[in-house]
Formats: sequence, C-alpha cells, structure tokens
Amino acid sequence: MQVSGIWGMWLDRRRASGTVRTVTSALTTYLQRQVAALSSAPSEGDIQPMARLSGAEVDHVGVALCSVDGEITAVGTDHPFPVQSISKVFAYGAAIDLHGLDYVTSIVDEEPSGEEFNALSLDALTKKPKNALVNIGAIRTHAMLGVTQEDRIQRLRDMLDAAAGRPLELHRPTMDQEMAESDRNFALAHILRAAGSMEEDAREVVAGYTEGCSVLTTVTDLAVMAATLASGGTNPLTGERVLSRVASRQVLSVMLTCGMYDNAGDWVSDVGLPAKSGVAGGIIAGLPSRFGIATYAPQLDAHGNSVRGTHLFERISADYALHMLDGVEPKPLEKRAQELNQMASTV
Ligand code: GLU
Repeated sequence: MQVSGIWGMWLDRRRASGTVRTVTSALTTYLQRQVAALSSAPSEGDIQPMARLSGAEVDHVGVALCSVDGEITAVGTDHPFPVQSISKVFAYGAAIDLHGLDYVTSIVDEEPSGEEFNALSLDALTKKPKNALVNIGAIRTHAMLGVTQEDRIQRLRDMLDAAAGRPLELHRPTMDQEMAESDRNFALAHILRAAGSMEEDAREVVAGYTEGCSVLTTVTDLAVMAATLASGGTNPLTGERVLSRVASRQVLSVMLTCGMYDNAGDWVSDVGLPAKSGVAGGIIAGLPSRFGIATYAPQLDAHGNSVRGTHLFERISADYALHMLDGVEPKPLEKRAQELNQMASTV
C-alpha cells in the first residue's frame, strides 16, 4: 500500500520543501489569524517530556485542512512530531478490514471508558477492553494485525503511510525511550493475557504498538489522514482506498465517543466532530464527506489533549457551524473566511 514511484517522490518533495500547498486564500488568512492569536496569548499546559525528543517547542502551533478533493490549506508550524495515539484509529481500521467488524467488536468493545488513556479499562465480565482508543484496547487491536510481530508492524506502518499518502519515518529516540518507560503498557498486555483475551507475546505486541505511536507526522500529514477518514476511506491525494467504508465509519464512530481521552463528552458538546488526539500534541477530526482538519501544538491539558489545538477546533467549529448536531449546514470554507476576515478588519 506504500505510495511509491514518481507520485510518492513528488509528495515527499512537496512536503520536504515545507511549502505543501500555499494556496493564498481567505481561508489561509483566517487560519493565520487564529494561529497568530494563540501564539501571542500566554501559553497554558505542559509539553510531555518525551515530546521534547522530537523537538517540540512552546511556540509550535499549526493547523491544516484537507478537503475530500485533496485541496490542502496549511498554516503555522509544519514541524514533524510523533503521531502517538492517533495511530490507534488506523490500527483499529486495519483490524476491521482484516477480520471484519463483528469479529473485532467481539474482542474489543466500543464503549467510552470515561477513564484515563492508560487505565485498566477491561470489562470485568466479558474481559473486553472498553474501546480501541484507550491503550489496553489499542494493544489488543494491535495483536490482531498479523501472526508475527513483523507482519503486525508492517501492516500498521503500511496503513499509516497509505492514510498520509507518503512513507512516514519512525522516530527511533521516541520509540526507544517509550519502550524503556512502558511498564504500564506491558502490565496492560500481561493482564490481557492473564484474562484469556490475548495469546500473543506481551513484549512483542507492546513493541509493535509503540512503533506505531513513534512514527513522525506533520500537521499536514494528519489533515490528509483525517480527510481519508472523512472521505469514507479513500486518500484524497493518492486516490487509494485505504480503508473500507465500513471500517472508516466505525473508526469515526468510536472517535466521536472515545477519541478525546476522558474529555470526550466535553469535546462532543463544544466541537461536535469525531476526533482523536495524541500526547505529542496532534489532534485530528473529520467532517464526513467534506474535509479533515488537524492541529498541532504540544502543550497538553490535564486530559492529555493539546490546549491550543482544542482552542483552534472550538473556534473553527463555532465560526463554520461544524458541529454535527447543529441542525444547520456547515458554512462554505472560502466564503465564510471572506466574511470573517472582513469583520475582523473592520473591528
Ligand atoms: N505511546 C503512548 C502510550 O502508549 C501514547 C499515548 C497517547 O498518545 O495517548 O502511552
């Protein structure tokens, strides 16, 4: 599923140059204003120590939008950072396409846990992890991705590359450091085995899961990955079908109820889009059949969600009526940006 040949090289060059697609549009100006407002506000929250390994800085703020037609608008920092928990949604999608939805939900539930991301969220009766987006569920999902450790890692890396539309690099220092500090994830994997829910080797599964978390993405990559979900599983840049519609819909459903750690309820009320965050500071969200959005800012709140990323999503959702339950059509991106820019310039 890797993007190769001239197309892959072109995508790589485009991203490596840091210019991605500098469409000078009203939307760009609107997003630049939002990023500038946040950059000049006092910084809240803390950068996870591990995120420093990949160069996270307090002044990093980025936002990117990718339409289901493949039009990208990216503003602010395009610094690469580990995808972290955002990889869980793609592992979940890969497992569903490999085994079928019924099998996967018979092993991993689809219920919000209301607990921290690394809690022991295992149903006492069924022995099922609560969902695939908390660590215990993601570890169990990872174990489904193949018979050997190599198969599982290859499948996950291929899936992440295909969703981003380019080969993503592993950040070895993050991987090594996480593995050295993974006692809790090892414990969760051993509990899965002790409960009779997993047979695979705990160390190998956690290593594979951690490799998925340690892959580097930019905010633009994340927007493309989110757009892949928003478009029902087809990457809008490469045209490749990455996930089936069934898998894509299931992934978005679980993102809606479980994607923002133990702040998922607040997020749905305030932003109203299926989303997933990672502890390196990334957040993805999708407006089905329209576009994917991603933000990056490494300072985290007490739930582990990016503070500035959350502010950006709240702002953009309110300005564009993106809340899925608003009962009104989302506003057209460019036209609404023109209105908002006009209003801002007359204040
Ligand atoms: N690699 C991290 C862990 O397993 C992922 C945490 C996250 O982004 O939520 O703890």
